[in-house]
Amino acid sequence: MPATLLTDTHREVQALAHEFAQAEIAPHAAAWNEAHAIPLEVLRKMGELGLLAVVVPEDLGGAGLDATSLCLVVEEIARADAGTSTAVAVQNGLVASPLLRAGNREQQAAWLPRLATGEIFGAYALTEPDAGSDTAALRTSATERDGGWSISGAKQWITNGGFAELYVLFARTGGPGARGVSAFLAERGPGFEVGPEIPKMGLHTSSTVGLSFDGLQVPAGNMLGNPGEGLKLALATLDGGRITIAAQACGIAQAAVDVAIDYAGTRVAFGGPIARFQGIQFPLADVAAKLDAARLLTRHAAALRDAGEPHGLAGAKAKLFASSVAVQAADMAVQTLGGYGYSAEYPAERYYRDAKITEIYEGTSEIQRLVIARGLLGDSAR
Ligand SMILES: Cc1cc2nc3c(=O)[nH]c(=O)nc-3n(C[C@H](O)[C@H](O)[C@H](O)COP(=O)(O)OP(=O)(O)OC[C@H]3O[C@@H](n4cnc5c(N)ncnc54)[C@H](O)[C@@H]3O)c2cc1C
Repeated sequence: MPATLLTDTHREVQALAHEFAQAEIAPHAAAWNEAHAIPLEVLRKMGELGLLAVVVPEDLGGAGLDATSLCLVVEEIARADAGTSTAVAVQNGLVASPLLRAGNREQQAAWLPRLATGEIFGAYALTEPDAGSDTAALRTSATERDGGWSISGAKQWITNGGFAELYVLFARTGGPGARGVSAFLAERGPGFEVGPEIPKMGLHTSSTVGLSFDGLQVPAGNMLGNPGEGLKLALATLDGGRITIAAQACGIAQAAVDVAIDYAGTRVAFGGPIARFQGIQFPLADVAAKLDAARLLTRHAAALRDAGEPHGLAGAKAKLFASSVAVQAADMAVQTLGGYGYSAEYPAERYYRDAKITEIYEGTSEIQRLVIARGLLGDSAR
């Protein structure tokens, strides 16, 4: 990847994240995934390094860096373990980010320093059992009661949900449709039930749960942003979050390339290493070229965000492309390793299972295409 596109600070952050991920995560990733263990202590260590609040200003406990730095961090963590990087992506991109965008000074001061150190973890609760891509169909309700809000309903697939203490929660305060939704900062309490971990194809070091609310009381001061502007905040948050997921996809793709190169150089067939076969070389070359392109798209979207420019379309393009590259790269790695690619003895099969999620969460690839097409065609696409 052209290092010339990065500043000295970016390269320092990248090196820090790389060294941390290779020393503290990579050696344990296989065992953690097999045990479905969430590495909370390691996540907290990342807090000490500022990696849980990369773009949060220093006076609020963060590292005071930019979206490009966050991409570099998430890519390096994902290269070591995708599930761990999901927790980092959510804490930074889906929890700290809407707090920075819409939180008042009091809310920011109350939560951001604790999120930054990893004293607490946050979750982003938008999706419901019957409302995923169609976010405006969400039904969780918030009604005014006792000077605050009483929340009832259910959320599904909530990352970090099993151990989070702060939930950026979207609920309906008005009529149907997008304008009836508001955002809240919710904590656990009576009427808040966290479901069991949802068994999944991959991402086994990431917590994914359903949540249910039955009259959960949230103080009036915990509304995040203006009433009726919750969905706008949710979607603006995802505009940034998608860039981070594109970076995660690049990290998974890089890990797949790494294992394919290592294996191809040492596996002997027909009298020499399989690396000498074009059938091994060409898929690797194709993926390596696409991975550079995915990084450029990702860093372009991050650079637009850092410049305060619109970045929704660029982020959608980056996520659409990078997630597809991650899936292709993992497939290439499994094929390069042959039977060992299919075996849990090597990490290629984990990359294969983990890569797929990047085409689904924070908007499926179909939804990224919709965002891009609407950006191109305007109202005539609706
Ligand atoms: C491991 C994991 C972690 C997650 N973490 C979180 C989280 O932390 N917080 C959170 O809020 N959510 C989270 N999600 C939810 C995730 O964002 C949704 O699953 C995703 O947005 C898709 O929604 P859905 O599953 O309801 O699928 P649906 O919306 O039901 O879509 C089903 C299929 O229909 C397609 N489709 C739907 N609408 C259209 C359309 N208009 N045009 C073309 N195709 C369409 C979709 O692309 C998909 O292929 C997570 C999901 C998973 C699996």
